[in-house]
Amino acid sequence: MLARQTHSDPSGWKLDELIACPVCDALLRDREVMILSTARCPRCHSVIAAPRERALTNIVMLATTAVVLMWAAVFFPFLEISARGLNHKSSLFDAVLAFSDGLMLPLSFAVAALIIVLPLIRLGTILYALAPMALGWHPWRHAVAAFRISELLRPWAMAEIFVVGVAIALVKVAGLATLSIGPAFWAMALLVVVTAMKDMFMCRITIWKTLSTRAR
Ligand SMILES: [Zn+2]
Repeated sequence: MLARQTHSDPSGWKLDELIACPVCDALLRDREVMILSTARCPRCHSVIAAPRERALTNIVMLATTAVVLMWAAVFFPFLEISARGLNHKSSLFDAVLAFSDGLMLPLSFAVAALIIVLPLIRLGTILYALAPMALGWHPWRHAVAAFRISELLRPWAMAEIFVVGVAIALVKVAGLATLSIGPAFWAMALLVVVTAMKDMFMCRITIWKTLSTRAR
């Protein structure tokens, strides 16, 4: 596994065989980790590397699925509300546009950015960086930069939080009007699951190494 040598003298280690634990910053010596095994930090036990078989192909397929679901989630009806004989269907796209006048404009931008634009950029950069490698080709130019952008955006792509917010709002409104959930809601829920699966296959350290060796 990854080094137990944290306690031995690190002065003899070469810089390019050192990695730092992303959680506790312990310096570890980088070793080859077998497929399907998991390397943990000896100090805080967080996962350092967990390479999976066909991980690249799986990530690319899941990311492609996520793009399609995203499209459905944005343009299909999300909610249908009926109250006192009035009926209103709205999609996520309508919801974003609803805030687009006057003082609410910044909110409209923020909603669109966090729920739609950033997740799409993230999926796009992941696909750009990994799809060629999944097909056995050389990575495209700037693949490393693209993957770095996707990693930077990771905390900002908030589709999951939006789903939780909608669920809470539904409970609140349910007493006032008749609500029905449209296909976009299920697309969004599925998107959350697909994103979690994609992150499960994503062993960052393995991807960085593969990118840097193949990009040469
Ligand atoms: Zn650690």
